Amino acid sequence: MSMLEIHQFLERLGNLIRSQGRRTSAGLDLQPVHLNALYYLSICNRYSDTLLAVSEYLGQTRGTTSQTIKLLEQRRLLTKKPDPVDGRVTHLKLTASGRKIVLQSWPSPVLKAAESLFPVDQQDALRDQLKQLLHTCQKVNDQKTFAICHSCRHNEKQAGGYFCRLTQEPLSPEDVTLICREHEFPQSA
Ligand code: SF4
Repeated sequence: MSMLEIHQFLERLGNLIRSQGRRTSAGLDLQPVHLNALYYLSICNRYSDTLLAVSEYLGQTRGTTSQTIKLLEQRRLLTKKPDPVDGRVTHLKLTASGRKIVLQSWPSPVLKAAESLFPVDQQDALRDQLKQLLHTCQKVNDQKTFAICHSCRHNEKQAGGYFCRLTQEPLSPEDVTLICREHEFPQSA
């Protein structure tokens, strides 16, 4: 299969998922970008839950993202928490209501509906291939990868757990499953 065909399938799936996302967000009196910001904050680590990181991930200006965050805060879907060490940094944390919306909205209802018709072993194989395609595209794309911590060149597995050589801080088993704005793939990977 050529990359053109792969692109066409991904485009059509993306259209289906986006269309469902518009319906889901309208039902919650939100815009799709609000749901995307909530989702991002549910999967990012503590170095990436800032206004700047959300704007980079969504590909928006800081001003536009600031409006998104303001609305989500007014709706009590997230709260702002000052960093305990660096007073200039503010973390954006989902509230229980924000987490509930994410749990209800992901995966997309259209994928949920197809799940029982798709054998588990095929789902696993497809997931692995899509993951590989995503990693390859992230590596060749000259932008921040926002990939999962355990694939980062700064992540070091130690006897007691994990350690980030960039921030010089220990990482929990959960930390290494989250995405990070500082992520970099190993040079040889
Ligand atoms: S190891 Fe990499 S991805 Fe993980 S926290 Fe450090 S910089 Fe971020």
